[in-house]
Amino acid sequence: MKQKKFETKAIRTQTERSKFLEHSSPIYLTSSFVFEDAEDMRASFAEEKDRNIYSRYSNPNSSEFIEKVCQMEGAEDGFAFASGMSAVFSTFAALLSSGDHVVSCRSIFGSTHSLFTQFFPRWNIGHSYFNIDEPETIEALIQPNTRMIFAESPTNPGVDILDLGALGKLARKHNVLLVIDNCFATPYLQQPLKFGADLVIHSGTKLMDGQGRVLAGITVGSRELVDKIYRFSRITGPALSPFNAWILSRSLETLAVRVDRHCENALKLAEFLESQPEINWVKYPFLPSHPKHELAKKQMKAGGCVVAFEVKGGLEAGRKFFDNIRLLSLSANLGDTRSIVTHPASTTHSKLAPEERAESGITDGMVRVSVGLEHIDDIIADIRQALG
Ligand SMILES: *Cc1c(COP(=O)(O)O)cnc(C)c1O
Repeated sequence: MKQKKFETKAIRTQTERSKFLEHSSPIYLTSSFVFEDAEDMRASFAEEKDRNIYSRYSNPNSSEFIEKVCQMEGAEDGFAFASGMSAVFSTFAALLSSGDHVVSCRSIFGSTHSLFTQFFPRWNIGHSYFNIDEPETIEALIQPNTRMIFAESPTNPGVDILDLGALGKLARKHNVLLVIDNCFATPYLQQPLKFGADLVIHSGTKLMDGQGRVLAGITVGSRELVDKIYRFSRITGPALSPFNAWILSRSLETLAVRVDRHCENALKLAEFLESQPEINWVKYPFLPSHPKHELAKKQMKAGGCVVAFEVKGGLEAGRKFFDNIRLLSLSANLGDTRSIVTHPASTTHSKLAPEERAESGITDGMVRVSVGLEHIDDIIADIRQALG
């Protein structure tokens, strides 16, 4: 059969049926699985059989979630984690050793930054940061012990865009791994493996679930690399719960339609903000004013759900804007049906020193909006009254 389209794969991948012939996947809330006899038990543990043994290793619900994401990202295999950060941590821990070095973009998720700065030094793993607007400096940062280039695109919270194809070429040239946190784009908008990434990480907590219910993470890529991550993870135990995996598999079935509307609403909000006198600047990858607009259009199907802007009047004006918000949620999450406004400088990126924030492009008056699925007129009305 002809290669199925994204939406079809999201819905029709892996519908294993039990003896009850259910149409929607059941939940396998079980910690372990039983064996037929002594030989089955021996062969299963010897990995001569591809079957479930214990839910720390695998479970039908996490397998369904993994299979769907692999289909969406064009990956061979994956492992599902209890959170996005456990995916990030386990991927690094499985592939890096003492003495290794990582080159990373400076504009990354706050907890990933803390992992590099607070914990990597204890395990003698070095890192060097490049600034998002200076990709020409990356090559000079690569050392003989560099094992990995790590980046996010679009970045959080500044929605800057990195050239994934250029990063892929650089990684090949220097024989290092390229690992992309694709959380902001989702596999619907962008598939980094096509641009030369070796592994793709997601926080399933964000647009993948899309309804703010569960924490989840996943790493996908080649069978060889994922096997290393699997070996580490089946021992250390960051596995996703079967219930949350079941939720995620259902959520992925509506990913395309949800993300389409998120992007449509976000673009309309960004265009509205650009016309407001109370705003210093607006950033959204699919606004023509975005510095990497052409690149964003090349890499991504649409701009994503996050819009960043700065209210005139700095921190004080920013605080007033947040206090005036009525409909939208003041929260740190993103990619939810409900629109969320966040003040990165005092929340998600408060652990960064002021100069580190400045280098990551996070100003005191910066506002991050995760545009939800409410009617766009109501989203704009709330922001308009909060500005006025
Ligand atoms: C939220 C997020 C993470 C971490 O995911 P959790 O599920 O909260 O652990 C990692 N990377 C990015 C880009 C994120 O937005």
